[in-house]
Amino acid sequence: MTGPRLEIRCSGCGEVTLVRTEAVYEGFTRIGEAYICTSCGKRYASAEETPFAAADKKPQVFTEADREVALTVFDADERQHCCGWCKHMVLNPFGQRCGVSNRFTEATDICEHFEKQGSSTSN
Ligand SMILES: [Zn+2]
Repeated sequence: MTGPRLEIRCSGCGEVTLVRTEAVYEGFTRIGEAYICTSCGKRYASAEETPFAAADKKPQVFTEADREVALTVFDADERQHCCGWCKHMVLNPFGQRCGVSNRFTEATDICEHFEKQGSSTSN
């Protein structure tokens, strides 16, 4: 097991199959996650490009066991780079979206526009 698994309808092979996730780093900075079809190996560069099969349902990214692993793998600072901690996160009755990019987002997404909640800009 390399991490959480999710179901997609792959545009490469047409199968409903699982993707595995792969952290994408730029230098030492984690900039996001890529999704790779376990059936044909097609790589999706981001969650937005990944054709999740159950897009209408909330994907269960972490099982209870995975969460424990995640807590030890990611340090606190990295985990708080997700949209759930971002001051741009907009909550409304239809879901959560990023106030900067205006796209729907998950609390666990990692976003280039991230700014920590409650942090005052220094300049
Ligand atoms: Zn595929």
